[in-house]
Amino acid sequence: MPLQEHNYWLTTTDFPKAEPRALPDRVDVAVIGAGFTGLSAARTLAKRGAKVAVLERETIGWGASSRNGGMVLTGMKLGVNQLISMYGRERTQSMYATTLATIDCVEQIVREETIDCNFSRSGHLEVACKQKHFDDYARQAEVIAREFNHRLRVVQKNELNAEIGSQVYYGGMVDEVSAGLNPARYVAGLGRAAIKAGAEIFEHTRVEGLQRESSQGESGWKLTTSRGALWAREVFVGTSGYTGKATPALQKRLIPIGSFIITTEILPEALARELSPRNRMIYDSKNYLYYYRLTPDRRMLFGGRAAFFPENDQTIRRSAEILRRGMIDVYPQLRDAKVEYVWGGTLDFAFDIMPHAGQIDGMYYAVGYAGHGVAMATYQGQKMAELIAGDKPENPFVGIPFPGAPLGLYNGKPWFLPFAGMWYKFLDWVN
Ligand SMILES: Cc1cc2nc3c(=O)[nH]c(=O)nc-3n(C[C@H](O)[C@H](O)[C@H](O)COP(=O)(O)OP(=O)(O)OC[C@H]3O[C@@H](n4cnc5c(N)ncnc54)[C@H](O)[C@@H]3O)c2cc1C
Repeated sequence: MPLQEHNYWLTTTDFPKAEPRALPDRVDVAVIGAGFTGLSAARTLAKRGAKVAVLERETIGWGASSRNGGMVLTGMKLGVNQLISMYGRERTQSMYATTLATIDCVEQIVREETIDCNFSRSGHLEVACKQKHFDDYARQAEVIAREFNHRLRVVQKNELNAEIGSQVYYGGMVDEVSAGLNPARYVAGLGRAAIKAGAEIFEHTRVEGLQRESSQGESGWKLTTSRGALWAREVFVGTSGYTGKATPALQKRLIPIGSFIITTEILPEALARELSPRNRMIYDSKNYLYYYRLTPDRRMLFGGRAAFFPENDQTIRRSAEILRRGMIDVYPQLRDAKVEYVWGGTLDFAFDIMPHAGQIDGMYYAVGYAGHGVAMATYQGQKMAELIAGDKPENPFVGIPFPGAPLGLYNGKPWFLPFAGMWYKFLDWVN
């Protein structure tokens, strides 16, 4: 099959079709964005009896939620010591425990809603690109065991072939708690679950503006959309890397970053087993990292930030070749494997590379997953919905400082991305 610029995951599932109907005049909660964050929130809110409208400018799952690697990962992007210095020991412990709970949350939803998405606790493997990265693994594992009572297993280079059929790494570290799934099937299932719970989803409905407005003596919001206006008592924003000018306070706190993926043709069983004997979710230790795994039908899925800019025809096409070369560096065995699909998506980084949730300008939000969003977005959607419904759920990511750009030099247009890309490449070279 010739290379297709198309998301392979979309070939594996159907999406629920939200019935085209007029927007309601009033709802309890308007949710912006129909990805993991918005749909998880909508499901929880609707189950609690709230009248919920999910407003999605494209279609259910159109954003990063159907385009990602399907790695359901423990931990956060920042190292433990840095987290402790930023938030103190107690909050960091609570954050780490939360990252473990996020995976249980996905597993529970998959089970409760019988979502057929190949969820499996196959564990993740981080591989070291340099000796000094590997030397740091033992120290990291020791700190994580001591501070968070969570076990990681360091794998020496001479034992690494039990984990990965590649000779290029200096060793690895395994976390058995992480999982893998098919993200398109999962987000489609979440959409069905939200609809079943009573939430209404409005596709092709772009939110263009929000303003405070009282209605029938209650304070709330008037939302202007591409399909008319509606009033909502509360607003919850789950727009992640696609956050736009309708919510400027969030837009200027988030950097949209492109990430790209290729998948090969279906591989022979023996070759697939050689490449990834334990079917791990794998990523390397670089800043400009590669992440990869086998798909349930035995393709190699290989992703990375081949271009820093969000996806467009040019960045997608260029990424296919860059990623194929990267894949062959890791796995020379794949030199003759055909690459059948390439696609891209946009993820969101906050300036402190942390997830953030809470209220801004009076509206609720959860964003900033930095490539760790499958589990965290699902979890934050649920916890923020519980908060909106009047509970007081424990959520250590609410209330932490949410910085904007240094010196305020950013209005949501990431002019600095080429420099950031070069900077990360430079860091990988020197570190
Ligand atoms: C290529 C790639 C690989 C990734 N791999 C992984 C991985 O393996 N593991 C992991 O944990 N994470 C991964 N991520 C990150 C993860 O996919 C995201 O963090 C997660 O999907 C975010 O979900 P979300 O619901 O918050 O946002 P999204 O799924 O991006 O949804 C946001 C939605 O908001 C809609 N929207 C935006 N503005 C408006 C508006 N004004 N009006 C109406 N609708 C609007 C968009 O159309 C979009 O559908 C990856 C991301 C990418 C792009």
